[in-house]
Order: sequence, then C-alpha cells, then structure tokens
Amino acid sequence: MSDATTNPTVSRTVDLPLRHGAIPLWDIGVRGAGIVIAVLDSGVNREFLAETLISEIDFTTDHDPTDFTGHGTDMSRTITKIAPGSRIANVKVADKWNRAERDSVIRGLEYCRRNSPPIRVVNMSLEFSPRIFWFWRCTPEKPCNVCLKVNELASLGLIVVAAAGNTGLPYLSCPARAVGAYPIPAIEGKRNPFLDGAIEDHSSIRAVSGTSVSAAVTSGGIALLLSALPDLTLAEIREATFGAGRTVKHHNNMRIAHFYRTYRLLNHKRSGKHVSEKIATTHFELGRSLREAGDNAGAISELRKAIELAPYSNNFHNELGGAYGQAGQLEEARLAFQEALRLEWFLAESHFNLGMVLEKLGLWGKAIDHWLVGSAIDFDLYRQAVLSRFDEVCYYVILDNPADCPGEYVIREFRSTPHKPIPGEIIGRAQTFDEVRSKLPKNLHRVPRLPSDDKVIVETWLR
Ligand SMILES: [Zn+2]
Repeated sequence: MSDATTNPTVSRTVDLPLRHGAIPLWDIGVRGAGIVIAVLDSGVNREFLAETLISEIDFTTDHDPTDFTGHGTDMSRTITKIAPGSRIANVKVADKWNRAERDSVIRGLEYCRRNSPPIRVVNMSLEFSPRIFWFWRCTPEKPCNVCLKVNELASLGLIVVAAAGNTGLPYLSCPARAVGAYPIPAIEGKRNPFLDGAIEDHSSIRAVSGTSVSAAVTSGGIALLLSALPDLTLAEIREATFGAGRTVKHHNNMRIAHFYRTYRLLNHKRSGKHVSEKIATTHFELGRSLREAGDNAGAISELRKAIELAPYSNNFHNELGGAYGQAGQLEEARLAFQEALRLEWFLAESHFNLGMVLEKLGLWGKAIDHWLVGSAIDFDLYRQAVLSRFDEVCYYVILDNPADCPGEYVIREFRSTPHKPIPGEIIGRAQTFDEVRSKLPKNLHRVPRLPSDDKVIVETWLR
C-alpha cells in the first residue's frame, strides 16, 4: 500500500479531493474505475472532459448535447476531480436557458435505467417544486412522476444523488424528497438528517451554487465507494457517509462527507466487526491515562481496542502513534500517524508528530514537509513546537532594503531559531529579487511567512 502522506505539499491542504478524503482512497488504488455517473444537467462540453465523457444524449428542444450554460460541465468536472477513474454520461435534460421539463427529466432517468450497468450513479443538481397542483404536494405515499421514477431506479440499485434547497423553499424539493434519492440539502435545510457533501464555495468552480457542488462531490465519492465495494446499497452508503462524516465546528457542527473514513467504516462493518464509538472512547481515555502514567504497552493495547471499535477516528490513531513513539517503536508510530492523516489531513498535531518520527528515522526532508503543512494549518503550533526543533539548523533569509544595505536585496545566513536568531554572513546581494534568489544555495525548503516576521524579510529558507 502506498500512502498519501509521503509527499505532501502545502497546496494539497486546500484541495477538494483532500478535504473529502479522496486522495487516501486513490493511494490504495481506488479511483472510481468501472463506474459511470450520469449527469442529468444542462449538457457537458466535451473539450473539458475529453476521454472521461463516454456518451451524450439530449432530451431537450436544443437538439444538441452541448452545454450552453456551463453548469453541467462544472458538475462533471467536480465529479471527476473526486473520482478521476470514473466516466461521465452526458444526459442533457436542461436547455440553453437552464430550463428542465419534468418530462425530459423522466426520459433522462429512463435512459439511465436502460443503460445500467454501466451507469451506477445519477447526479441531479436540479430541482422542482413538490407542489404539483394547489391540492397535491408530492409525498412519500403519493410521489410525483419524477420522484416515482427515482424510486424505480433506486429499487434497481442505482444511486440517485439529488441537490435541494436552492429554491429557498421551507421543505425539500423534488427529486431530493424521493424516498429512493440520496438528498443533498442546503446548509439551512435542517429537515434532513443526511447533511453531506461540501459546504463551502470552491473558487475553482465558477458560478455554481453550494448544494450543486455538494451533490457532485458526493456523486464522485459514491463512485469511489462503489468501485471499491461494488454491491453497496443506498442504505449502507447513507448510514456510513453520515456516521463517518467530518464535523465542521464553524458551520453549526454539521457534517461533511469524508470518503476514506466512510470506506473504513463500511469495510469494518462488512467484515462483521462491531462498531461502538461509546465503548471505543472509554478504551481511548484509558489508553491516554496509561500513556501519561508511562505504561506504553498498556496504552497501546487499549488504543488498539478503541480502533477495533471505531477505525475511522483520527484521534485514536494519533494517540496510538504517540504511544508507539514513546515506546520507541518508530515504524509503528509512523504508520499510525500516517493513518491519522488519511482520516483527517487538517490535523496540525499529527503532521507535527509524524515529522518528529520521520526526523528520528533520518528522513529530514519528509519531516520538514509535514511541519510545513502543519504550519499552514496551525501557525501557533508551528511557532511553539516546530521552530523550537530547529535549534542547530541553518537557514537563509532574503531581506529587502535592510538597514545595513539600503536599496538592495540581501541573503543573510542565520543560525538557531527565529526567536533567538544569530545573524551570520551575507552570502548574496543584488538589485532585483529574482537575481538575489538565484544566489540561494540549492535544496532548501521554504518556510511560510510568520506574522511576527519583520517587514524587510521577504522569504525564509531552511536547509
Ligand atoms: Zn416529487
């Protein structure tokens, strides 16, 4: 098994596939191969999808599968960003004015039914009002024609992901309200327990609403899960995605989908193992107190029991890594911290801990990589913990217009930490930044700028 954490870069910290746990799945060979996702939308533009697009059909009066609004293309690109091994079927049901008729949508769904397999997932980032007539609103008992069709597909094993909530209605729209749909409500849509998918805006995707993107992210994630475990059911996916979702504190503690965690939970359940977060937490607490008391063997045993009951908790793996580290079992510690980061990349503490282990294993460059990622996530931890590691480390600072060389760019060597810097020689000076930068020694690691850095400091580089 290769691992996601051997070659981290700071840029990966803002990546959509990283946020939703797709990258650790890619690293174990799960990329969505063999799964076709039908995008029921405004069409898909071939030039952005290339060989990923395997078929196209138009059910609108445009009589042209081209995407004139960009919406369907954006959905498809988001899906393949998460599941790069999957394929897209363009099922155009919304015309160039972005209007979708119920009849076109039903014909589109029927097309998906006839072409399944290979179509396994249907992405519907579109919605209708459930109020059909003044006297009839679509209900589970008496569904509308679109929801009825969605239920039919669901009964055949297709997963229909449906966005909802963009109309500002106080209830779920169609087809998200269909019993057989996998609904993606808006942040405000608290009526549904399955709060999945992404919630923030993604700058790389233009002019699409939050829940549309969430639906596409979820469709991609489900494609990953289906390619790893082909006979998964809608009920299993719903339950595991919610159970293993990541809680986002600054968004009313709502959950967003994390597909590696979901995969770990599904695998665990399917192998007949018991899941209990409650009992796991008691083992975890016991393990932590044993570790504090210096009983590393006891701590390791308890923490492993915790992981046996809840394998998707990054905290348990992080703590286990700490216990292994204290016991001097560095390779085990490394694996535990790596698993913690697969389960939650945005944990500065695990990056710091893994860096410590890698440093002890003599992998200095990889240690620095993790400290840099950790510092991008949590500056304070970086200041307190990481910089204190660099006592005997040499680093280079590029200064712009320093007092002793006015009007010039200068590279000055430093020793010790930036808290107690010991200035060394000036090793290069020039009139321009590009010129002075070319005079830096090779194979350095750039350190992110600290808020406390003097304004004459342009860049800091570690050896
Ligand atoms: Zn309906």
